[in-house]
Amino acid sequence: MIGAGPAALCIAAALAERGVRVHGLAPEDPAQPWPNTYGIWGPELDALGLGGLLAHRWSNTCSYFGAGLASGAVSHGIDYGLFDKTALQQHWWRACQAGGVVWRRGRAVAIDHHPSASEVITAAGERLQARLVIDATGHQSGFVQRPDEGPVAGQAAYGIVGRFSSPPVDPGQFVLMDYRCDHLSEAERRCGPPTFLYAMDVGEGLFFAEETSLALAPPVPYDLLKDRLLRRLRHRGIEVDQVQHEEFCLFPMNLPLPDLQQRVVGFGGSASMVHPASGYMVGALLRRAPALADAIAAGLNAPGVDGEQLSRGAWQALWPLELQRKHALYRFGLEKLMRFSDPQLRAHFATFFSLPHGQWYGFLTNTLTLPQLIAAMVRLFVQAPWSVKIGLMGMQGRELPLALRIVRP
Ligand SMILES: Cc1cc2nc3c(=O)[nH]c(=O)nc-3n(C[C@H](O)[C@H](O)[C@H](O)COP(=O)(O)OP(=O)(O)OC[C@H]3O[C@@H](n4cnc5c(N)ncnc54)[C@H](O)[C@@H]3O)c2cc1C
Repeated sequence: MIGAGPAALCIAAALAERGVRVHGLAPEDPAQPWPNTYGIWGPELDALGLGGLLAHRWSNTCSYFGAGLASGAVSHGIDYGLFDKTALQQHWWRACQAGGVVWRRGRAVAIDHHPSASEVITAAGERLQARLVIDATGHQSGFVQRPDEGPVAGQAAYGIVGRFSSPPVDPGQFVLMDYRCDHLSEAERRCGPPTFLYAMDVGEGLFFAEETSLALAPPVPYDLLKDRLLRRLRHRGIEVDQVQHEEFCLFPMNLPLPDLQQRVVGFGGSASMVHPASGYMVGALLRRAPALADAIAAGLNAPGVDGEQLSRGAWQALWPLELQRKHALYRFGLEKLMRFSDPQLRAHFATFFSLPHGQWYGFLTNTLTLPQLIAAMVRLFVQAPWSVKIGLMGMQGRELPLALRIVRP
């Protein structure tokens, strides 16, 4: 198993729990703290019995989809949380330790495949043999092959954890998307990329405020995001008093599905597991690791299974047909959103979050069945104002091939 991020630890733990002998390879100590902070909807963890892994949990969750500062908040009525990173890492780490996962420091540079085994070659020239190689090296994986389907959109964000002259959000509040934009010039609103504020009260006088671009190709540069964040705050009479941490966030949102016939099996960012409409992934790791680990354990234990059959069984368990179809549907939807103007985007999200909780929550967490997901999208279309309907109807660029892939992934 290559990597030591959330995906690597998650799948290593699941395999170890099933008695599979796992060897991990990563350049850093796998117990070293991860750089990113991960957010998730509270009920996603509750459903897995893991609510205790949250460091923060907000019940006052909302967004703003009006243009002006005076426009009101849309309350979400569903808890949102930030992981206690150490607790999440320890959760998986303990299972790895109990299952005897062996870690080695090093960077993989190549992988060779033989009929019944594979060989990972490290930068130091070692050759490590395994029945199956799992690539959990993240979004920039050099080993998992996927088709080139044109520009990949990036979610980009610049954020500050710090102290502010006055609170950027209400005390105890979490703001998912604040699209208010009256701090921008008319030209910026018309031609600039739509960006929103993602912000929360993290306690003890500290707030996290992040200017975010949902998805765009090429991604919105950090300088622009930082400038927008500071102008947004200043417009509200808020200055940054102390910066405790700056977050620079960039990851691909709409990577095509990997080739599901290849020998290397991906998990996490390498396997295109980021939700193409929201950018979330950690909930998917937790929900999807058991099926992948079951398939790998069964394949390893079955007599006469060669390397190709083992990999194919693993990929099918990770990306069954229904998930492939939903991935195509999400990518199709994102393609449309990326073309929307700022007012269209605000109207779209206002409609989206007026859907019944089960529909928008299920859409964002990828927990709806395909028919339920289609029903949510149809309802969104019916309820949307004409400005959004028109945007949703026109087919441009790669939208048609993506729409066809919903039927035939
Ligand atoms: C700033 C930021 C914030 C995010 N916030 C959220 C969030 O709030 N919620 C959410 O669900 N998702 C979030 N995401 C999306 C996604 O969950 C993360 O990108 C996540 O870290 C991906 O996990 P991963 O384990 O696949 O890859 P990574 O976390 O990138 O880990 C990759 C691992 O592979 C190792 N590696 C890389 N190359 C090699 C090699 N050649 N040989 C050996 N090891 C190698 C690395 O050292 C590392 O250990 C965020 C992403 C970013 C960038």
